Amino acid sequence: MTDTQEPYIALRGVRKAFRIGVETIPIFSGLDLSIARGDFVAVMGPSGSGKSTLLNMLGGIDSPDGIDSPDGGEIRIGRSHLEQMGEGARAAWRAHSMGIVFQFYNLLPMLNAGENIELPLLLKPLKRKERRARVETVMDLVGLSGRQRQFPSSMSGGQQQRVGIARAIVGDPDLLLCDEPTGDLDRKSANDILEMLGFLNRELRKTIIMVTHDPEAASFARRTLHLNKGEFVEQERLAQ
Ligand code: ADP
Ligand code: MG
Repeated sequence: MTDTQEPYIALRGVRKAFRIGVETIPIFSGLDLSIARGDFVAVMGPSGSGKSTLLNMLGGIDSPDGIDSPDGGEIRIGRSHLEQMGEGARAAWRAHSMGIVFQFYNLLPMLNAGENIELPLLLKPLKRKERRARVETVMDLVGLSGRQRQFPSSMSGGQQQRVGIARAIVGDPDLLLCDEPTGDLDRKSANDILEMLGFLNRELRKTIIMVTHDPEAASFARRTLHLNKGEFVEQERLAQ
């Protein structure tokens, strides 16, 4: 039996609001979304439309909730129903199922590149040697061979983002969530990073969801969604 008709990621009726004092800011009030395994999806939309909130919910960092009801809807990724998991279970799920790439890299300045990349592996039952071997493999993959001992402060933005990507994939997750991964980079470095994401999608079959402001960045994806007023609009694209 296969479940090929089932989307890899399914959001059904997802509700999310932020409360500040007595004020309620509704972000989503019934969001639906299906994403196929192996897709590369760009999410665009105005500032404040909820793109980061969406990624945080997909990453199990934020949980959906109701605005006036406790029913926050359903977020399923693979076989995991995130909305049914407690915080501990979600943290464990996160550690082996997905990697996150951030706009400003989020590297630890006191650790060198190799140590930054190794961090997620410390949660796994791996020997030091195995961890080092994996770090070396992903550093080769992102074009940073031999730079293990270099510190983030001595690297360009593009190199730091390569470290960020290597850290996101070192645990070999199926899913990569990228929040404005090229938002801090010049065009050339941005395109290098986008090509790398394209490679990870095509060759290593990573499912990628990438938030971006930049239409050129979105053109690297297979599918583009526009988030507006709490709803998605799919962008039709001509064959490239
Ligand atoms: P985007 O990434 O599309 O710019 P966000 O998802 O960051 O948008 O934010 C959507 C809305 O939710 C914004 O109005 C933002 O101010 C609000 N928001 C985001 N996070 C929080 C939070 N932790 N507490 C209160 N409001 C928040
Ligand atoms: Mg954002």
